[in-house]
Amino acid sequence: MGADAGWLKEHIRDIADFPKPGVAFKDITPLLADADAFRFTIDALADAFTGQHIDKVLGIEARGFITAAPVAYRCGAGFVPVRKPGKLPSAIEREEYELEYGTDLLEVHRDAINPGERVVIVDDVIATGGTAAATLALAERLGAEVVGLGFVVELAFLGGRGKLSGQELVSLITYS
Ligand code: AMP
Repeated sequence: MGADAGWLKEHIRDIADFPKPGVAFKDITPLLADADAFRFTIDALADAFTGQHIDKVLGIEARGFITAAPVAYRCGAGFVPVRKPGKLPSAIEREEYELEYGTDLLEVHRDAINPGERVVIVDDVIATGGTAAATLALAERLGAEVVGLGFVVELAFLGGRGKLSGQELVSLITYS
């Protein structure tokens, strides 16, 4: 990666006990609201995959959309929304994944990726890695070649990277 992204931490706010007791929520809305920080974030994520042909960038609902769409634009790629259940109107592929308590589902349109297309997955935060791993599984089931995954924030102490071994994983800010 190019320029050091450490200064972006100034634009990330810790909210204690959100959305439930015990969780230290990394609020990226101050970063999004700051023109320099937002531009730097998008450029750094896109630059991480520069020089490689990318057909599609997959963004994970909902905060992943905010960064994935401009990264797709910068990479000259299409944007594919990976959505919560029941939102996509056409034929879908679905993946169930583990949450701390229970399971959740992610869906993608079957015709959003053609076999052999090169894709990048982008989200705001990688925590336990379950969401990213489910998205990776969806992409691979549709025959995509996953070039890598990009995140604004990595909560390294939760070990999410371990669920994505063998993948190129880029995060701009790491909390260890
Ligand atoms: P995970 O599947 O555990 O990697 O969680 C990933 C999703 O949950 C990401 O899309 C984040 O938006 C959200 N998330 C999980 N933990 C946090 C946190 N501490 N702060 C902000 N977002 C989080």
